[in-house]
Amino acid sequence: MSQLEADVVVVAAGASGLAASVAAAQLGLKVITFEKGSTTGGAANMGMGPLGIESRLTRAKQFSPTKDQAFEVFMNYVHWQADAKLVRAHLNKSGETISWLEALGVVFSEPASYFPGSYPTWHIVQPESGHPGPTAAATMMKIMTQRAKELGVKLMLQTPVTKLIKEGNKIVGVVAEDKAGEEIQVKAKAVIVATGGFGDNPKMIKKHTGYEWGKDLHTFRIPGLEGDGMRMAWEVGAMATPMRMELSFGVADPMALGLDWLPLFHQPHLMLNLHGERFMNEAEGNDSFKGNAIALQKERQCLFVFDEDIKNEMKTYLDFINLVIQSPNLANIDEMIARATANNYPHLFVANSVEELASKTGMNEAGLKATLAEYNNSCEHGYDDLFIKPSRYLRPVKKAPYYAVQLFPAGYGSLGGIKINHKTEVQDKSWNTIPGLYASGTDACDIYGDTYVFQLPGNTMGFAMTSGRMAAEHAAEYIKSLG
Ligand SMILES: Cc1cc2nc3c(=O)[nH]c(=O)nc-3n(C[C@H](O)[C@H](O)[C@H](O)COP(=O)(O)OP(=O)(O)OC[C@H]3O[C@@H](n4cnc5c(N)ncnc54)[C@H](O)[C@@H]3O)c2cc1C
Repeated sequence: MSQLEADVVVVAAGASGLAASVAAAQLGLKVITFEKGSTTGGAANMGMGPLGIESRLTRAKQFSPTKDQAFEVFMNYVHWQADAKLVRAHLNKSGETISWLEALGVVFSEPASYFPGSYPTWHIVQPESGHPGPTAAATMMKIMTQRAKELGVKLMLQTPVTKLIKEGNKIVGVVAEDKAGEEIQVKAKAVIVATGGFGDNPKMIKKHTGYEWGKDLHTFRIPGLEGDGMRMAWEVGAMATPMRMELSFGVADPMALGLDWLPLFHQPHLMLNLHGERFMNEAEGNDSFKGNAIALQKERQCLFVFDEDIKNEMKTYLDFINLVIQSPNLANIDEMIARATANNYPHLFVANSVEELASKTGMNEAGLKATLAEYNNSCEHGYDDLFIKPSRYLRPVKKAPYYAVQLFPAGYGSLGGIKINHKTEVQDKSWNTIPGLYASGTDACDIYGDTYVFQLPGNTMGFAMTSGRMAAEHAAEYIKSLG
């Protein structure tokens, strides 16, 4: 067993842990950062970038929202089911986090409103090479890792922390395990936990959210995100928060066959449950609302249905162009459908009749026929009296072949687990601060109530980075107070 000493131990080197490590080192603290994986960056390597309110870039464009507007939008959206002081601290500091990242060498592309109805808060990273898009934030993780090393952070990869050490009521260090399985004991004045939640732990997902991963939930599983941080924090008395998944919606296997399905499901075509019935206005632009509505249906799934005419129209015309998608067109839809059917992709159905569509998808035939009759009638009259979908999106479904794709609640990782206050100090079950223990990022991200705040994109990575910085700053103050 080896022994080390530090001012601050940062548990993990994902988005939040790297922000905490760099910020703590900039404050002159001796930092040791343990990372379970063989690389740094965690889930953020898959993402595009963080939120920033009143950043240098949004102010240059005079973009809304201001910090005050963002706070109001946020709190109204979550029905005040969040620690308002923590939300305010996160939003108020988020623009400055963008400048801080720029000073480290991160370059952002110009913020824009990427989704219908969303604010231009998302700061998508300009990656080392190529077009800003999925995985662009990996470049930011690389830059932060480099800066952390330059600032003297001792970064230990493939060395998970297994336990927090508590003496009296204070956290005074951690136990980690190196590649060879040897124990490392570290004495530290403060510990920041940022292990990214439990998105890769189906048992915890089932226990804490009720979803069965792979059956009625198809979120990304980033290897290593197994709930270690919350388990360790709970072991030393931390209060648990409600735990949820960061939901949107999607196909069961988004990477299957290299199909670029994304533009398809964002078109406002029919979405039917297994009763063959509609259940929402399919033109809703908030993906998290769509995930919520799908989660309420039988077997938590729905069928995205279109016919031959709609399919052909999509080759040259799309209603919704999601700016995140690099090539927002479906000119190759025939080729995608052919590839999927040739490979027996199990979530796409092609049928020559309505009866066959019902039998292949499992939709109730009578329900499906009634819905199509009602919907086609609405299309003819230009008014959807069921869910008020705007008339320009009303296209009849009547020309075979018919197509259906199964959609499920899907999305990103978990949310919440460790109760913190607005200073990122971990709270015990009696709402007292556990001295020396801080948590940040996904492990502590219980700020969205029951639905991710889709209107202010970049929110989770933004929270991860800003809360990581906050944890470092508050830990530094605490260490100073120890004398
Ligand atoms: C595909 C995808 C795209 C996304 N895009 C965006 C986006 O563009 N904008 C946005 O706001 N959000 C996005 N997100 C979410 C965003 O990536 C996360 O909110 C963010 O990475 C959370 O930061 P974190 O530090 O809490 O966790 P992570 O970045 O996941 O880091 C957690 C780290 O903890 C390590 N770890 C786990 N256990 C231990 C242990 N015991 N000891 C040491 N280390 C441990 C893990 O190996 C990992 O490196 C996306 C997520 C996914 C999956």
